[in-house]
Amino acid sequence: MADCIFCKIASGEIPSKVVYEDNFVMAFHDIEPQAPTHIVIIPREHIASLDHVSDSHKDLLGHIFLSIKKVAKALDLKDGYRVVSNCGHLGGQTVSHIHFHLLGGRQLQWPPG
Ligand code: ADP
Repeated sequence: MADCIFCKIASGEIPSKVVYEDNFVMAFHDIEPQAPTHIVIIPREHIASLDHVSDSHKDLLGHIFLSIKKVAKALDLKDGYRVVSNCGHLGGQTVSHIHFHLLGGRQLQWPPG
């Protein structure tokens, strides 16, 4: 998608600090980290949000979660971590390309704001 910042990151047009990538997903450091470890995981395919996934994305969604686990292990988040996907305006989503925040390295609070 031409104007999508995460599509540009996926294509390499916008640089990012990549921690994992394969044919389907990319994981990179968030530019405004909210925890000592804050990674953003995206599919290379442009999907606007969790609200836009369909049955055809089942394998991709499974692959995303397995990749998140791989990244958490690689970054040594053995004491725990949180995975968040903000969806839509009230969910706090600002980038309209589905993504998953992987947060760790400190005690996270609940409920979120
Ligand atoms: P929010 O901005 O409220 O966290 P999102 O869930 O849509 O909403 O998250 C988008 C995330 O993408 C933010 O955490 C933001 O810091 C991050 N981000 C935006 N631009 C970049 C970039 N160029 N490189 C890395 N992370 C980015």
